[in-house]
Order: sequence, then structure tokens, then C-alpha cells
Amino acid sequence: MAEQAPILGGQVVISKPALQQLFDALRGAGYSLIGPTVREDAIVYDEIAHLSDLPVGWADEQAPGTYRLHRRSDQAHFGFVVGPHSWKRYLYPPSLRLFSTRRNGDGFSVETSKDPPPRYAFVGVRACELAAIAVQDRVFLDGPVQEPHYKARRECAFVLAVNCTEPGGTCFCASMRTGPRCSSGFDLALTELDDVFLLEVGSALGAQMLSGVEWRPAGAFELSRARQVMAEAQTRMGRGLNTQNLPDLLYDNLEHPHWANVAERCLSCANCTMVCPTCFCSDVQETSDLAGETAARVRAWDSCFNREFSYVFGGHLRPNTRARYRQWLTHKLASWTDQYGVSGCVGCGRCITWCPVGIDLTKELAAIRGESPL
Ligand code: SF4
Ligand code: SF4
Repeated sequence: MAEQAPILGGQVVISKPALQQLFDALRGAGYSLIGPTVREDAIVYDEIAHLSDLPVGWADEQAPGTYRLHRRSDQAHFGFVVGPHSWKRYLYPPSLRLFSTRRNGDGFSVETSKDPPPRYAFVGVRACELAAIAVQDRVFLDGPVQEPHYKARRECAFVLAVNCTEPGGTCFCASMRTGPRCSSGFDLALTELDDVFLLEVGSALGAQMLSGVEWRPAGAFELSRARQVMAEAQTRMGRGLNTQNLPDLLYDNLEHPHWANVAERCLSCANCTMVCPTCFCSDVQETSDLAGETAARVRAWDSCFNREFSYVFGGHLRPNTRARYRQWLTHKLASWTDQYGVSGCVGCGRCITWCPVGIDLTKELAAIRGESPL
């Protein structure tokens, strides 16, 4: 271990097995480690403890409507891209009990959870996902009212990011200027090189967590190699998106015939919104027991693709798939910018991979722009 503490913005090198020391330090500090692991033929996020829990030696093959895992010829620890999960399931859970009530004589009492928020250390957060967390920060924390559950989880999360060196077939973060390099929003950012990991220190907490890890200052060769693999990744995106005047393109084409073309293929299944790391639509449901003694209010993810989502007294605002797909894409890439000052799309490609019929927003937008046939 070097004697001097690593400095903010500094880069250090650790051996690959030494990443376990970082895992142990984080767990010792009270964090639950959440990271990528293989389950049911996909790379998902779950609680992990050891390096062997990572998808070591696995790669994912992604295309519209297609996801497959296959073995790599090496033992890379992060040689894959993003899967169906995103970190929003930990910061903004799919289902969350907001409060319960209990009958109390003629009245009732309200009970809220007294548990402290979970302390997560996220392992393997890609640049597009850092951007997605920053988008949700704007949605939940930047307005006049802050979402307290998100805030509590967000404030105690540790982020170990990973620079993407092998973009996938549906990735287009380079077009959205969100990747493949992690530039902010992390405590530590890792680049996987052939034999070692390069770690960039992004916060004082990140530097502190390295105190129990064997590291040495990065040398010129490692820094140059990391720059090289990142520059190569930038040129190997599976997809690209022309973002020029995108909001105007969408606002000017609300009656474009291509919306009907997409609607003929779209199943309104809502997969795209469930896997999207920035989508935040939710519903609030109330349940009670049969005796009427207790009740609970639960917030659950919802989707603008669900017909009931836009039901108001008197009818549905978006009664058909054409209207719902148009709403989703126009919000994501146009009105989201008006609301929050950033695009709602970070170019992760999940909605393309996990769409059962392979609808690809990069292709649909190219058709609306007149860059490809309808
Ligand atoms: S719209 Fe699609 S590509 Fe963009 S952030 Fe959401 S899932 Fe990723
Ligand atoms: S675009 Fe694809 S994933 Fe989204 S609702 Fe339509 S069919 Fe489902």
C-alpha cells in the first residue's frame, strides 16, 4: 500500500484480486453491495459479496428484441454492458409502502416506517447510468418539493462506477454525450485493463474507502492505455442518434404518419418504460384487510403505455397506442428538456433490447427526420 492517501481526482492502480479488499472495506463500513451478477440467463443487479459473484468471463450480445449471454475468451470482470435492471430499482423501488393505517376505536392511527434508509454501494455503474441517476436527481430533488424516500436513499449511496470499454449493440451514449467515460457523479471510477484495474478517485469518501486497499499510483503506461481503450469504445457504439434540434423535430411532427406505423408494431406492453433508467411514472394504490382494521398506501411503478394511466373523468387522454408511443418519445426527447433542462434519454439502449418486437427509437426518429424510409 502506498503511504500517501490518494487525492481527489487522482488515479491509482490495484490488482484485480484487490478489488475484493474494496468490497470488504465497503461492507465493513455498513454498505450493502449491489452489483451485476448472472441470474436466469441475464446480467441483473443484486446483492453481492465476493468478486466471484460478478459475471466474470461473461459477455452480453444485444440487438433490437434480442439479449443473449455468452462466454468470453478471457476472464474480464466487467466485459458486458447494461442488462434489464437499472439502479432506479434501488433508489426509486418498483413498489414502496408509503404508510399504513390501523383502526383505533372510532378513529385510526397512521404508521410510517421508522427504519433507516438502506445504505447501498452500487458496483459497476456505467457512464450512461450515472447520467440517468443525475436525471432522476433533477426530477426528484431539484423541484420545489423533494421526494423524501429517493432523497434518503440517494444521500447514503456509494457509487463505484465502471468506464465502458466494450459498448453493446444497442448503445448510443456517445450520441447523447453521456458516455462511455464516467466524468462525474461517482466516488470511485474503475477502468478494467488487461491485468489491473485503474481507479479514479471522485470523492473524499472514495479516497477514504481506499485506505484498506493495496494500491499504487498509476503509471504513464496505464493512463495511456485507459485513454486508448476509452477512445476506441467511443467509436464502437452499436447505434447512433442525430440529436440536432430533436425537440423541434418532435414538436413539428406530432401528426407524422410514422406514429401510426410504429403503432402497428407496438404492443403497448410497457417494457420500454420499466427498463428505462429515467422513467418515473407511478401510481398510488390503497389496500385494506377484509376486516377493515388496517390499510396501506403503496406507490408502484406505472407506465404511460398503460391505457388506464391517462384516464381522467370522462375518458382516456391517450386512447390508442399511436398516442401513447408518441407521448413517450416526445416526452423523453423534447418536453423532458423543457421540464428538467436535460434529455430524458441517456442512450443506454435498454428500451431497444427489451422491446419484444424490436422497436428502436434511433430508427423511428431517423424515419421521422426523413433519414430512412418509413
Ligand atoms: S429511452 Fe431507451 S435508450 Fe433512452 S434512457 Fe430510456 S431505455 Fe435508455
Ligand atoms: S415500444 Fe416495444 S417495449 Fe415499448 S410498449 Fe411498444 S412493444 Fe412494448
